[in-house]
Amino acid sequence: MKKIALPLFGLCLLHTTLSAQITDPKATEVWQPVPKSVQTGSTSEAPSDAIRLFDGSNLNNFISSKDSSAAAWTIQKDGSMTVAPGKGDIQTKQSFGDCQLHLEFKAPEVVKGEGQGRGNSGVFLQNRYEVQILDCFQNTTYSNGQTASIYKQHIPLVNACKKPGEWQTYDILYTAPQFNQDGIKIASAYITVLHNGVVVQNHVEIKGTTEYIGLPQNQAHGKGPIKLQDHGDLVSFRNIWIREL
Ligand code: MG
Repeated sequence: MKKIALPLFGLCLLHTTLSAQITDPKATEVWQPVPKSVQTGSTSEAPSDAIRLFDGSNLNNFISSKDSSAAAWTIQKDGSMTVAPGKGDIQTKQSFGDCQLHLEFKAPEVVKGEGQGRGNSGVFLQNRYEVQILDCFQNTTYSNGQTASIYKQHIPLVNACKKPGEWQTYDILYTAPQFNQDGIKIASAYITVLHNGVVVQNHVEIKGTTEYIGLPQNQAHGKGPIKLQDHGDLVSFRNIWIREL
């Protein structure tokens, strides 16, 4: 114990001594690098340096997760797209690691089903880690599988769901996991989620893949696509953009 305490004490003393010697405010100013300027709009408008994954015009940035063919979800006249049940999940052509992701979604206005069978979809970071999309407006299911849960890992802090048929937002900050050369995870992924502007996941640790059955898995991987889930419900999406961090 003493062996550790002494150097720590020494360091503290050194820090205190150095602090005492600094009298010029400029000595602690850092001028480089200069963060580049971006133009911002409303909170849901993509900043100027974002990659627009879906702007309503086409699905060119997505492919089918099943067979890499063209994404076959339905483009709507209002600039949204809707899950085409049975066509399967779609994913971005581009792969991402650390990122800020914005997307908007809405559950079908006509309520059908209950629990996990109502307005179910999901957004997967790096093709593996699901932030649940579900219609949990007056709809009960297991808490760690409700809207904005990190599926079966983290219950959202609150239920911020809007009514079915109303547009909702997710703003996600994501730090990818790291693996060493032997494929062992050396740093977990972390995620922060704002649902309709409300923090519902505050820098929580992703323990591994978000499995429907069983425990999280941790096989080494690099960057991965953003995937949207076809769970058979007519969930719609619009205005999806991402910034690499
Ligand atoms: Mg889901």
